[in-house]
Amino acid sequence: MSELRVRGGSLDVDIAGGVFAGGVIARSSTGPVLDATGLTVLPGLIDLQVNGAAGLDVTAQPERLWDVGVALAAYGVTAWLPTVITSDPRARDRALTTLAAGPPPGWFGAVPLGLHFEGPMIARDRRGAHPEAWLRPPSIGLIDGWSRDAGVAMVTLAPELPGAIEVVEALVGRGIVVSVGHTQADSAAVAAAVAAGARCLTHLGNAMPPMLTREPGPVGAAFGGSALVAGVIADGHHVHPDFLRTAWRTLGPGRFLSVSDATAALGLPDGATRLGDQEVLVAGGAVRLGDGTLAGSAAPVIACLRILRSITGCDLDEAVATATTTPAALLGDATRGRIAPGLRGDLTLVDDNLAPVVTVVGGLVAYDARSQ
Ligand code: ZN
Repeated sequence: MSELRVRGGSLDVDIAGGVFAGGVIARSSTGPVLDATGLTVLPGLIDLQVNGAAGLDVTAQPERLWDVGVALAAYGVTAWLPTVITSDPRARDRALTTLAAGPPPGWFGAVPLGLHFEGPMIARDRRGAHPEAWLRPPSIGLIDGWSRDAGVAMVTLAPELPGAIEVVEALVGRGIVVSVGHTQADSAAVAAAVAAGARCLTHLGNAMPPMLTREPGPVGAAFGGSALVAGVIADGHHVHPDFLRTAWRTLGPGRFLSVSDATAALGLPDGATRLGDQEVLVAGGAVRLGDGTLAGSAAPVIACLRILRSITGCDLDEAVATATTTPAALLGDATRGRIAPGLRGDLTLVDDNLAPVVTVVGGLVAYDARSQ
C-alpha cells in the first residue's frame, strides 16, 4: 500500500499497489481515505475549450463562469478554460473581471486556469457559429490589456489576416498560448504563425480549409511533422471516424489535444439553448444554428475520450493523456496533468465505462456521484 498525499487539501488517497493513472484501487483502508473501491484513478481532466454547461453560456453570462465550473466537476473536469467566442468586447471584460474576483465563498468546482478568447480576429468565411457583426481585424489596440497575468491563457485567431502576425508575437510575449483557428490560412500563413510563436490549432479539421495535395494548409501543418498541438472535438459529430483515426495515428497523445467545445447544451435535453447571443438547437447530441452550422458540442471531454478509444482502439492511458498531460504541457502548468507526490490533488475517478464517479479538486471532493 502506498500513500499519495495530495497538496492543499484534507484528503489523502491510498492507492493499492502504488498504481496511479489507469490503476484500479482494489480496496480502501482506514484513515482519511476516499473509498475508491473498483474505480480507476485518473489525473484530473483539463478542458481548454468550454463555452458553457448546464444551460449557462460563458460569453452571454460571464459572471456565471464559476457555476459552469461546478457543473463541469460532475463530468470529471478539474481544470478548464472558460471560452469567450466572438462577441461584444464587454463580454471579454466581464469575464476577466469575474475571473480576477475569484470564486464565491465555499465554492468547489473545476478551476478556471484563465480565459480562452476564441475570436474576434478570425476569418469571415470560416467563422462557423461566431456572429459576423463582432468580427474584428487583428490589431495591437484590440489586445490591449490581454496577458497571462491578466487572465488570458489562450487566443484563437486567423493568422492570414492583415496584422495578425504582429498580434501573435505580442500575445506570445505576454505568455498567452496562440492557437490558429477559424481560419483560411494556407501553409505559408500557418508557418508564419508558428514562426511567431503559435503552438496550437483550434478544433482541427473544423472551420479551416481541407488538406489538399499542393496546399495542405492548417491540417497539413498538423500532420506534416510540425510541433503544433491540435485540438480535436471527438464528440461523434465534428469529425469523421476516418479523420479521427488519421489524426490519432499522426499526432499521437503528445500532440492530440482532446477538447469538448461544450456549450450550455451540456447536460440539457434536446431543444433550444444559447451560444453567445445566438439561439441554437440541440438534437441527437449535436448543437447547431438554424442553418445547420455546428455550434459547439453537447459532450463533456470524458465522452470525447470514450469515443476516441472506441474509434482508435487506443489505450486508456493514451486517451487520458490528451486531456491531462497534453493540455497541462501546452499551458506550461507543471502542477497538473499527472498524479505524483507534490502535484495538485486533482483526480478523476471513473468506473469501467469511463463514466466519472468522483472528482477531486485540490485534494477536496468536488463531486461524488454516490452521494448525489
Ligand atoms: Zn470554434
